[in-house]
Amino acid sequence: MEIRKIICRKILSKSGIYGVDYTINPYVGCEHNCVYCYARGFVKDFINPRLKWGEEIIVKENALAALARELPHARRGTILLSSITDPYQPVEEKFKLTRGILKRLLEFQFPVSILTKSPLVRRDFDLISKFKEVEVGFTIITLSEEFRKLIEPNAPSIQSRLEALKFFKENGVSTYMFVGPILPIITELYLDELIKEAKEAADQVIFDKFNFKYGSYSNLKKALRGSELWSKMESRFSNTFYQRTKEEVIKICSRYGVNFNFCY
Ligand code: SF4
Repeated sequence: MEIRKIICRKILSKSGIYGVDYTINPYVGCEHNCVYCYARGFVKDFINPRLKWGEEIIVKENALAALARELPHARRGTILLSSITDPYQPVEEKFKLTRGILKRLLEFQFPVSILTKSPLVRRDFDLISKFKEVEVGFTIITLSEEFRKLIEPNAPSIQSRLEALKFFKENGVSTYMFVGPILPIITELYLDELIKEAKEAADQVIFDKFNFKYGSYSNLKKALRGSELWSKMESRFSNTFYQRTKEEVIKICSRYGVNFNFCY
């Protein structure tokens, strides 16, 4: 793992994501190294071309100073932490940029949506619980640890994510489970159980389909090619699959009384 520090020009980015006004990405790159990640397509000009995704993390060392400069001039709006990196990936333990950013956002009481795969977010419960408008989301796209190790090799276990999600819900913080990207077989086989788990741990579940752009399909294929799993998955990727899954999700969520939303 290589770590490089940079001085960023801006830290608060306007966002086109539904329901979100800004994004903050304290790091470039992500140690979790999910094989379906499309973030690499957004930052390919920054990452060292000799290194693979997940092998280099760029730390925006002036992130807090930049935020202090930008926040007083920004119109109040919801901030997503983060969109193209995981704000609680392992380097956060050392650099604590996300924690510093939360402290600053708290002063201004900007609404915050946190999205992560790491239970490290529990460390910042003291700050998170003080926001008037805040939600904590965990990405969980399967309940199989075997599949998780194949597609999210360096990300924390699913059980640890579910426990952290429950922790926030039980302690009065609004929570969501992000099931995205939905993958044939990998998500499909666990849809019912995932939604059942979400009933206990989350206030809502948000579903998204696979993003074929930014090299994510070729990376997924490269990671799984030759396996029996890929031979079963490959032919199932289609608009019909995502439409049928949507109908299935609506049925299951209604049966369990779970709030849901789709990004597609
Ligand atoms: S946790 Fe998110 S940003 Fe990090 S590699 Fe996985 S999908 Fe990409």
